[in-house]
Amino acid sequence: MAVPATGARVVAAAAASNDSARTPPLTTILDLFDRHRSFLLTGHENPDGDCLGAETALFHLLKALGKQAHIVNPDPIGRSFDFLQRHTPFASARAETPLPEFDCAILLDCCQLSRVGHLGQRLQQSGVPIGVIDHHVGSENGDGSVCYVDATAAATGALVRRLFRQLDVPLTPPAAEGVFLSLIADTGWFRYSNADAEVFAMASELVAAGVDVSLIYDSLFRRRHPQSTALLCEALATHRLLLGGRLALAVLDRSLMDRASHIDFDPDEILEPLRSTEGVEVVALCKERFDGTVKVSLRARRDVDVQAIAGVWGGGGHKKAAGATMKMSLAAAAAAVEAEVQRALEAAGG
Ligand code: 5GP
Ligand code: MN
Repeated sequence: MAVPATGARVVAAAAASNDSARTPPLTTILDLFDRHRSFLLTGHENPDGDCLGAETALFHLLKALGKQAHIVNPDPIGRSFDFLQRHTPFASARAETPLPEFDCAILLDCCQLSRVGHLGQRLQQSGVPIGVIDHHVGSENGDGSVCYVDATAAATGALVRRLFRQLDVPLTPPAAEGVFLSLIADTGWFRYSNADAEVFAMASELVAAGVDVSLIYDSLFRRRHPQSTALLCEALATHRLLLGGRLALAVLDRSLMDRASHIDFDPDEILEPLRSTEGVEVVALCKERFDGTVKVSLRARRDVDVQAIAGVWGGGGHKKAAGATMKMSLAAAAAAVEAEVQRALEAAGG
């Protein structure tokens, strides 16, 4: 999607994972902050912990710089994230909702306006420059006129933390809470292979800066609706082990998705137990949406690059965690996922 840019496209991206490439120049995105007064911060549909945490931290950074900032997402924030609203205002915009004034928009944890729902079209029509801060593979080729992209970073929130350091702005407790939420969301509470030395070093300074870790854990995981356990069982029970036990595929229809949204149950919870099954190389979760499309979430254990699989349907993400929107029926999506995973397993030599 083309985006009106005020000047040449300026990209800062890390190409490899050696130390100097780990820290791509931040100056272009900082120049963008410098040149504008009032910012609209947004991210992908159904914002997750990394997206919301990075928005929170950037909101407080921009305020510390004397700027105006508004967080406006395509969807409301889930109930489990409402602890963030103690210190940070979140808005969501449908097609007709008036937007605050802004002269620059920043996309966090994604790089395409098409992933920002109706709001994406409105941002494009506004003609303001779009900044992208993201850690997904290839995000420097998205809709940002200025990008700070580092696909070696575990979370988008970690990139915002680097901006604080670069500007010598101290982390306030609300900003630290945002970065911490980003880190735990995208590393599965420090369990995944992306939990690197930067993540653990940041975690230490964030806790020192006042993050209440148990408050975050309790808000996210200890306020479950009484019906959520039954729904968890039902969602898990849809899974099948295919391709000789190397693919775990779960398929959630519209009825289950509807009941999940009513009790704020996140069906992605089933990804982790499925990934822990011995012999499983790829987990695929197909969720039927109300518009007739299917959202697929993919997770890998070792060698299979699920980001490349998601790319078949125009999606993306990371090597070990990726997703896409599939414009087909649930049954067709399940069959297509099985076929692509089979191809990828064969290509990976097994
Ligand atoms: P999830 O399965 O949790 O929705 O997403 C896993 C990863 O893939 C996340 O980093 C997410 O941003 C990315 N992802 C999910 N869906 C899409 C999509 O439709 N397009 C792109 N480019 N990335 C996606
Ligand atoms: Mn992320």
